[in-house]
Amino acid sequence: MELNICHLYPDILNLYGDRGNIITMKRRLEARGMAAHIEECSIGQPLDIEAYDIFFIGGGQDFEQEVLLRDLAGGKARDIRAAVEDEKVFLAICGGYQMLGQYYKTWDGSQMDFIGAINIHTIGAKERMIGNYMFRTTPESSGTIVVGFENHSGKTYLGEDVAPLGMVLSGYGNNGEDQTEGARYKNVFATYSHGSLLPKNPELCDFILQKAIQRKYDVVQPLSPLDDTLENNAHAYMQQRLSRKA
Ligand code: GLN
Repeated sequence: MELNICHLYPDILNLYGDRGNIITMKRRLEARGMAAHIEECSIGQPLDIEAYDIFFIGGGQDFEQEVLLRDLAGGKARDIRAAVEDEKVFLAICGGYQMLGQYYKTWDGSQMDFIGAINIHTIGAKERMIGNYMFRTTPESSGTIVVGFENHSGKTYLGEDVAPLGMVLSGYGNNGEDQTEGARYKNVFATYSHGSLLPKNPELCDFILQKAIQRKYDVVQPLSPLDDTLENNAHAYMQQRLSRKA
């Protein structure tokens, strides 16, 4: 078995080591004897959505998100919408998450119309939501506790037919108001959690990989356990610290 992973805009949306998520997916597939092929697609490069099983989009500043608008309008937005409806797997972080939505109105009043692949929108607030945080994913998205780091001024609101990825246990999540965190629509997994998302939360990583395998090969492939001592220690340390804050 093999999965093809497309890293979208790796040179633009590249905050906080979000690339580590791709490395984690690759390593965890290879450890189970599967192959992972990673390709990058940035501004001006054609995107062949049929060629990939997983799409990854990292976070970025408001300015960087704006830079992408013209490239998205050149056909990529339409193709990404089609891939989402076709149940391809997406993992989108922070700025990438916002970009999959309808629009982002920044705190200083300018509006960026985004892809509209998922029914969410984002409104900028003057105060940033920043810090380590923790949430529990819904049973449909693995049902595990995720520890992470968030830094955003955008407050995201979920529309009809979009479920939260999880519920906040400590921190802000989508908007600091309704306790929701991230979004889940078909096989889109979107979250505000940066770089350490999959390295520190291996159960969620395996869950996402299984979704991609299931879609491609039409089998529910059990993934053999790996030695996750390091990952679990990092997770337990953060969970303990954040539990004290909650
Ligand atoms: N620019 C967006 C915001 O501040 C996303 C930031 C990010 O990706 N960390 O809300």
